[in-house]
Amino acid sequence: MKDGNFKRIVILGGSFAGLTAAYELQRLLKGKHDIVVVDRSAQFTFIPSLIWLPFGWRNRNQITFPIGPALQRKGIRFIQAAITTINKDQHTVDILESASGKPSQLPYDFLVIATGPHVDFEAVPGLGPAYGNTYSICNLEHAEHTAEAWTKFTKNPGPVIVGATQGAACYGAAYEFVFNVEFALRKLHLRDRCPVTYVTSEPYAGHFGISGMTNSKPMTEWFFRHLNIDWVTDAVIDHVEECSVHFKSGKRHRAKGAANEVEDMAGKSLPFNFGMIIPPFLGTDVVRRSGLGNERGFVVVDDYFRTLTNPEVYAAGVSVAVAPTDKCEAGCAVPKTGYISEVMAKGAARNIAATINGEPLIPKPAGKIDALCLMDAGNNGVMMVTDRIYAPKNRKVQILIPGPWIHWGKLLFEKYFIWKMKVGAVRLP
Ligand SMILES: Cc1cc2nc3c(=O)[nH]c(=O)nc-3n(C[C@H](O)[C@H](O)[C@H](O)COP(=O)(O)OP(=O)(O)OC[C@H]3O[C@@H](n4cnc5c(N)ncnc54)[C@H](O)[C@@H]3O)c2cc1C
Repeated sequence: MKDGNFKRIVILGGSFAGLTAAYELQRLLKGKHDIVVVDRSAQFTFIPSLIWLPFGWRNRNQITFPIGPALQRKGIRFIQAAITTINKDQHTVDILESASGKPSQLPYDFLVIATGPHVDFEAVPGLGPAYGNTYSICNLEHAEHTAEAWTKFTKNPGPVIVGATQGAACYGAAYEFVFNVEFALRKLHLRDRCPVTYVTSEPYAGHFGISGMTNSKPMTEWFFRHLNIDWVTDAVIDHVEECSVHFKSGKRHRAKGAANEVEDMAGKSLPFNFGMIIPPFLGTDVVRRSGLGNERGFVVVDDYFRTLTNPEVYAAGVSVAVAPTDKCEAGCAVPKTGYISEVMAKGAARNIAATINGEPLIPKPAGKIDALCLMDAGNNGVMMVTDRIYAPKNRKVQILIPGPWIHWGKLLFEKYFIWKMKVGAVRLP
């Protein structure tokens, strides 16, 4: 017999933010309420490992696990389905179940939006896997496609371009990939035949979309010079063709050039035989259609992760709108990493549980979110720690530690995190 306080909580998305929110809610509510997670994919993918998949250092089986059984063990329901509409006034969600192909409707008392991004390749003509010019590692299918392209490329090696376009946010992944490309080329004894260029809308190397951190600029430039990687900053890409990137603007820095030697790239192009360029992110279609997103489809939330118009609707992870940390000429958005997605998801879960239990809500403004990130660089890496990722002027802690042990740390972290998500041990760090 369900009591009058029985609540239905629907979580849209079963990745970093969605799974964390589900496990945390189940823990806090002690199984007394109905929690259901909906995702079109039956598998959780540890996205950070996609930087290794194109080189054959990881495969699908090593970095995924089935979501349904993991949630079921904790008493949480899982529905594999495409989410088609959020009816915010009716408090229902329309879905198309994958197993039956039939539409159905889920009523909710609380909703958590954790649907991540839509990768907006349309922002730059000729960009992305659909055109076959450049590749992507933004999701598992993209990374597998990139693996095929990489294998072909190694038989016909030449210049490489890796980067992130104007309006992009996911710079960390682009940096990790360019250093892993460089390392893979060295392992294959192809490095001499493959000039590598990093192209970014950041105003300087090491900005990361968060106004940099302590000595991130000189450190990143040192890595580029040491590994003979040229870099183009402030890049606005006009269009991409089969083997060339055409710039509207940009500043090219040569690894072997003087520190102040900068080439204006306006109207110029760079050739490539292999390119992986991350596009801007938008909110997902379903959020954009719902009226709950801003002009880019990201959900604006208050300090409790609730939407401003519908207090029973929460958001966490990449689907949340976060203001840029500074003005960036070419347009940079802020990264929302897996760690930050977890922080937001736990915040949302705690406040839903507090609302149900009649307890005070706990605020966590964006300006007070901390961050811990291990950035891999092939056989090297950098650990980043800060107490205020989105408030650069208020940071009291900002630490960058480079070293080969970070690479080993990242390998250990991969195993730990996949285990943690599989067993739902979200109380652990
Ligand atoms: C290559 C790469 C490397 C990265 N490395 C790191 C790293 O080292 N450390 C770190 O902290 N972060 C890293 N990140 C960032 C990290 O992956 C993201 O922060 C994290 O995935 C965000 O989680 P999320 O749950 O918000 O969104 P997502 O992981 O994008 O998940 C959204 C989920 O919603 C589902 N969904 C969306 N729309 C629908 C729909 N209409 N119907 C049904 N299901 C839907 C999707 O299937 C997906 O499972 C990396 C990202 C990339 C691309």
